Amino acid sequence: QSKKNGGNRLGYYTENLSSQQVERVSLENGLRHALERGEFVLHYQPQISLATGKILGAEALIRWQMPGGRLVQPNEFIPFAEESGLIIPIGQWVLEQACVACKQWIADGMLLAVISVNISSQQFQRGDFPELVRQVLRNTGIQPYNLCLEITEHMAVMNMEHSIQVLNELVEIGVKIAIDDFGIGQSSLILLKRLPVHTVKIDPSFIFHMTDDAADAAIAKGIIDMSHGLGLSVTAEGVETEEQIFHLQQLGCDRIQGYYTGRPMSSEQFIGYFQQTVSGTSRWGT
Ligand code: C2E
Ligand code: MG
Ligand code: MG
Ligand code: MG
Repeated sequence: QSKKNGGNRLGYYTENLSSQQVERVSLENGLRHALERGEFVLHYQPQISLATGKILGAEALIRWQMPGGRLVQPNEFIPFAEESGLIIPIGQWVLEQACVACKQWIADGMLLAVISVNISSQQFQRGDFPELVRQVLRNTGIQPYNLCLEITEHMAVMNMEHSIQVLNELVEIGVKIAIDDFGIGQSSLILLKRLPVHTVKIDPSFIFHMTDDAADAAIAKGIIDMSHGLGLSVTAEGVETEEQIFHLQQLGCDRIQGYYTGRPMSSEQFIGYFQQTVSGTSRWGT
């Protein structure tokens, strides 16, 4: 973006704004052109099986490489992208990119089960969303069972009947569905009974202190037992210590994702990470 052209006008409007508001305006302006300028990157965070120690897949997490060098985290720009509707093209780009990366990894011989992609509520609300998913699968050539779509608990309860209908269509396509950030929303248990989902992701806030907070441990155990009772698998997010891993193993949790087993990393780094372990088997192998 030309600082000379935009700079003065921006200066004029922002004279009376707080520095926070100025930052916001410049983020929003930059975001409008970030997609066409190729400034988004996806990082990938490994998901590990607690039973076998194998790397089962990765979650794709978007970052924005701003001109000038700052790597902007999603919590800083996804809310703007949602307000402005930019999340629709950005979300579509993420879905495509993640599937392209997964296709490449599988072609390179990495035996990965799934690539997980976060879906925003605006994408999910659109009537043509299942068709867009079909298109991406067709264009990239990955199998539906290699793709997991993450929707939040909050999105699902907002319009339950619509959610059930869309999820049924997605399940028919053959993709997997995970409920993200589980436990912090208006968790209604009927949600898990009525929605056709495969996986529940325990919110990190219950994992961080589970080894010394009995209440958090009880909640984690409750989510795991209930999910298993309903035939769903469970991923614990935000696993940062070995103690948490042992505890989650005792509770019978299926999968972990967290800084301890790997921070979000570039696609190249993820390939290296996979190869460093024996055919994708990490140190939690049995
Ligand atoms: P999320 O989907 O729940 O993703 C997990 C977040 O937890 C990621 O933050 C990840 O880096 C972080 N995390 C993972 N392990 C640990 C850990 O051990 N400790 C701590 N402290 N944090 C951990 P990130 O990448 O900043 O993403 C934040 C959120 O932004 C995501 O939460 C998701 O809601 C949203 N997001 C990210 N990428 C996309 C995207 O492509 N589309 C949409 N719609 N939302 C996205
Ligand atoms: Mg997620
Ligand atoms: Mg989450
Ligand atoms: Mg989150």
